[in-house]
Parts: sequence; structure tokens; C-alpha cells
Amino acid sequence: MSEQVRKIIHVDMDAFYASVEQRDNPELRGRPVAVGHGARRGVVAAASYEARQFGVRSALPSVTAMRQCPELVFVPPRFDVYRSVSRQIHAIFAEFTTLIEPLALDEAYLDVTANRAEMPTAWLTAKVIRARILEETGLTASAGVSYNKFLAKLASGQRKPNGQFAIRPEEGAAFVEALPVAKFHGVGPATAARMHAAGIQTGADLKTWARADLQHRFGKSGDWFYGIARGRDLRAVNPNRERKSSGSETTFEEDLIDPVQIEARVLAMADDVWAWCEKTGARGRTVTVKIKWADFQQSTRSQSLARPVDSQAILHQASLGLIRSVLPPTKGVRLVGVTLSNFRAGAEPRPEALALSS
Ligand SMILES: [Mg+2]
Repeated sequence: MSEQVRKIIHVDMDAFYASVEQRDNPELRGRPVAVGHGARRGVVAAASYEARQFGVRSALPSVTAMRQCPELVFVPPRFDVYRSVSRQIHAIFAEFTTLIEPLALDEAYLDVTANRAEMPTAWLTAKVIRARILEETGLTASAGVSYNKFLAKLASGQRKPNGQFAIRPEEGAAFVEALPVAKFHGVGPATAARMHAAGIQTGADLKTWARADLQHRFGKSGDWFYGIARGRDLRAVNPNRERKSSGSETTFEEDLIDPVQIEARVLAMADDVWAWCEKTGARGRTVTVKIKWADFQQSTRSQSLARPVDSQAILHQASLGLIRSVLPPTKGVRLVGVTLSNFRAGAEPRPEALALSS
């Protein structure tokens, strides 16, 4: 296999939800803003940079946030707006590459190796994309440029907000060595604690471990850790796959506890399912939301409607109602899924569509 060096950009909007709220409401500009519910059991979904100076960040309980920053203004989330901004930035990405992999509403990996836009460098591509985003949405983004996804994601965090950073192929290994493992994307607090217990604090510590020892200690993830300790990550940028079934689920890279983030993911999956419904003409009556918890226990919540789901809004409403019955979560959520079933006679998927889903 040829070893073509990839060019990957990780684009990440700055304090996304909070920035959108400050953009749309001038009274919020320059003030510490938390998107989320300020109620007793609420958590902060996103914090403006002003709020971050007080230590307010996402997933912090709202009561703690208010204690740390009495001036804090809580704003309820407006997902419709965030989703429409997300569509705008995706349209910009599409001018530069077809290989776009969304990680969240406000972040995506882009593979620009093919250089459709004929830019001299990936660095310049990232600059142009950020300028276009600012021009069209009035919002700033940061970017990381590197030869793989792992490093591009690390790089985008280096010059936030409104900056960009590159890690070149000859710099990758040294960059990872200097980094605390807790900062690795995909290494959550639990894995970081296990690494610390094994005496692994930094990428350099991780690199001293033999592949077999890592496999023994960390199972399937051992191989992955062996590679990233050397700045290696061969995962391809996986563009939006076409939805081929009535169910959609995602395992998160890190467990989620923030209700706003969990709801956003559930809505994204409902959209996948709805896209499939539109393509196939299928109209189901039962909506099921599945949750897999951090301890691998599983819960499902179902609702059968009086009539088949015939609009995206109804699917959103039903999915949100179901997920909200387990929010706020009492433990981390590793996976959520949305499925539609109970197809009305005459409204089941067309046979040709079913053939596609094998
Ligand atoms: Mg962001």
C-alpha cells in the first residue's frame, strides 16, 4: 500500500452555542454566558469565553457555575439555530472537499489531500475556510492541520479561539511525547486514571510500552495507544454515510453526561432516520430510543403514536420526549440510538430500498 501523506484539517467552532447566542443578542456580548438550564439539576452545555475566565465550562452543574460566577447569564439552548449554522459551515466545507466527517454540530474532520480547490497548502485552505465561516455566519472557528485525525484534533485546540496550528509529519511523534495522556482525544477520565495507575502520564511514558504489554493492559485499545504514542493514526476521514435503515446509533468517543449534548446527538440520529424515511417512503408508528450506559447496562424507551410519523418535527418531538425521561443522566452515556418501527401497511419500506440495506 502506498504511504501517501494525508492532509487533514479539524475545524472547531469557538464556544459554539454561546457564540451563537452572543451573535444574536447584543446584550449578551462581553458578558459571561452559559447555554443550558439554570435550574437546580441543570448543567452548563456551553460557556462563553467570558464565563470560562471564572472556571465555568460545559458539564459543570449550574448551581456550581452560579456560585463561581454570580453574573452568569443562563440562556436556554436553541438547537434549530445551531443546526442551521452547522448546515452553513458544512456547505462551506463542501467547496473544498467531499471527505467531511462531522464529530458534532460544530466540529468536523476534512480530508483535503485531493485538493479540489487547488490551494497551495492545507494551511492556507484552513485559513480560507475560517475566513469564509466568519464572513457567512459571523462566528469564529479554530483549525488544526496535520497528517492524521488524531493530531489534527489536538492541533485545533492549540490556538483557540480564532486561531490555527499545524503539526507536520516530522513533528508528530515529538508533539505526542510532550502531551499528558489525559489530553488525548478518546482518552476519557477513566482511561486516563488507569494509565496514571500504570505510571503513564505523558505520550513519552506511553511510548516506552511494548505493543503486547499495552494489549494486555488495555485490551483492544492497546494497538491504538501503541500507534498514537508514535503519532500514527491510519483512520480515514469517513464522510456522511448514506443512511440505509430505520435505526441509527452512535457510540461516543467519550461518555456524555451533559443533557444538552445528549439531546443534540439524539436529534442528529432522528434526522438520519428521517432521511431514510423520506428516501424509502416508509412511515413507522413506534419510536424507540436506546441508551447504553458507561457501565454497559442498557435502557430502552418506546412510544407508539396514534398515527405513523409523517414529519421530521414529530420524530424530533417523540425522540426528545423519550430521551428526556432519563435526563439528567445518573451515569455516563456511551451510546444512544433512535429506531422507527411498526410500519403501516402500504407505508413499509419499498423493496428496492430494503435490498440496499443488507
Ligand atoms: Mg467547538
